[in-house]
Amino acid sequence: MLKTIRRLMVGIRLDRLITLAAVAVIATAFASACRKASAPEPAAAIAPEQASAAVDPALAELADFMAIPNVASDTANIRRNAERLAGMMRQRGIDVRLIEEAGAPPVVFGELAAPGAKRTLLVYAHYDGQPVEPDRWASDPWTPTLRAGRLEAGSEVVPLSGLPSGPEGDEWYLYGRGASDDKGTIVAFLAALDRLKKEGLPLSVNVKMLFEGEEEAGSPHLEAILLAHADLFRADGMILCDGPVHQTRRPQIVFGARGVVGLEMTVYGPNHALHSGHYGNWAPNPAAQLAGILASMRNGEGVILIPGYYDDVRPLDESDRAALAGIPRVEADLLREYDLAWSEGGDTRLEELVMRPALNIRGLASGAVGDKAANAVPSEARASIDFRLVADQRPARIRELVEAHLRNLGWTIVREAPGAETKRATPRLVRLEWEGGYPAYRSRLDAPFSRALVRALGPATGGALVVMPALGGSIPMELFDRVLGVPIALFPIANHDNNQHGPNENLRIRNLRQGISMHATLLSGLGSAWE
Ligand SMILES: [Zn+2]
Repeated sequence: MLKTIRRLMVGIRLDRLITLAAVAVIATAFASACRKASAPEPAAAIAPEQASAAVDPALAELADFMAIPNVASDTANIRRNAERLAGMMRQRGIDVRLIEEAGAPPVVFGELAAPGAKRTLLVYAHYDGQPVEPDRWASDPWTPTLRAGRLEAGSEVVPLSGLPSGPEGDEWYLYGRGASDDKGTIVAFLAALDRLKKEGLPLSVNVKMLFEGEEEAGSPHLEAILLAHADLFRADGMILCDGPVHQTRRPQIVFGARGVVGLEMTVYGPNHALHSGHYGNWAPNPAAQLAGILASMRNGEGVILIPGYYDDVRPLDESDRAALAGIPRVEADLLREYDLAWSEGGDTRLEELVMRPALNIRGLASGAVGDKAANAVPSEARASIDFRLVADQRPARIRELVEAHLRNLGWTIVREAPGAETKRATPRLVRLEWEGGYPAYRSRLDAPFSRALVRALGPATGGALVVMPALGGSIPMELFDRVLGVPIALFPIANHDNNQHGPNENLRIRNLRQGISMHATLLSGLGSAWE
């Protein structure tokens, strides 16, 4: 025990040195979001290793894995990915099976028992990636390419064996599809198991692994697979290993995500555009009508005005407020980065605003503007909206409230494009086309699993861990909650500037190294931190 503690302390000190070097580089090299990384970058209790091998083993393993194209619809290659991953797991003594569902890439499932452990952790990641447009990449997306810095800074390509084992290599980047989303995370997790073995540290929890092969295609079979194998996936807590760390480059653990539901709304005027001089004030103007509807739904401060809209919203509790207060503020940098003078939410911090429901108008179309503008009453007006849902709001209830609001304003709702008869017979016609959507998810921060995660990772990161109550974006965490009934947290390792989903996806080497040590810290410490 004493030996372990001493090793952990050495680890922290070593990492502080690495931090100083890293901060110096960050200060000159990176965009404004990182410019104010005032708090130190973290040290994990199990410090990043100083690799001495010709090619860093985790880097080599990741590069080999990334060289297999991984678009979910590429059935031959996606299966090669699954088989390679299964091999990487078996090599480490993990009990592996491929779960097959008709029409779906295999789910790679693995199990590792920890003798004497009372709890089981389910680890989720996906091995598929977004489709690529090779013309827009600086190097081939399926040829993992190491650069001695950011591509934007003109950094040169270096052979994998050229990566310095010390902190000089921290600000190097590996480019290629899957580097950060999500193969890098899978490799970091597997390398963490190697690290524990090497250090002689036992696993503190039983571990189950669920690696999906069609997340980027919208996970069309995931629910069926979870339902069919719920017993196999049974666990006491789950980490979703995907996404980026905080914009300040500090590690973060996230306990929820917003849900989403989309809506296309169309309002009708005359059957063709009419001269606005002859018919203005007489023919109903759909653009003006639509603007009125939108203004009745949302004010200029982002507050939703639809009656009853906030009724189901789970209020923030004390632990949420405490967590929010501990997150470094990024608003001033963001205003500058995006050329903005103000925020709709006033002084309220970004992370609190994204814990509120949002009605976002994602597009508007009616008539024409500029050179193409005509003095006419347009024949229709369209708005496209995404509603971001927060904890305890349900998509079905949102639909009911929006529709009740429109009916109260005197609108008649149709689902299909109305014909001439319907238009002649019905004033104030609005067509609504709803997208499926899914609810939000939020774990309580004072729940045992949440506290265990923060306890296992927090002190080990020198107080740098960002505890984020909820992500503004949408991830279907609710699906795992509903089917498996397991508490969930999002535990990302990738750099925020990883170009996820776009060309030149990349992983910062420090994030890979830190990811390995954070996963090792978690796997060795979670059991004792879990009440
Ligand atoms: Zn992902």
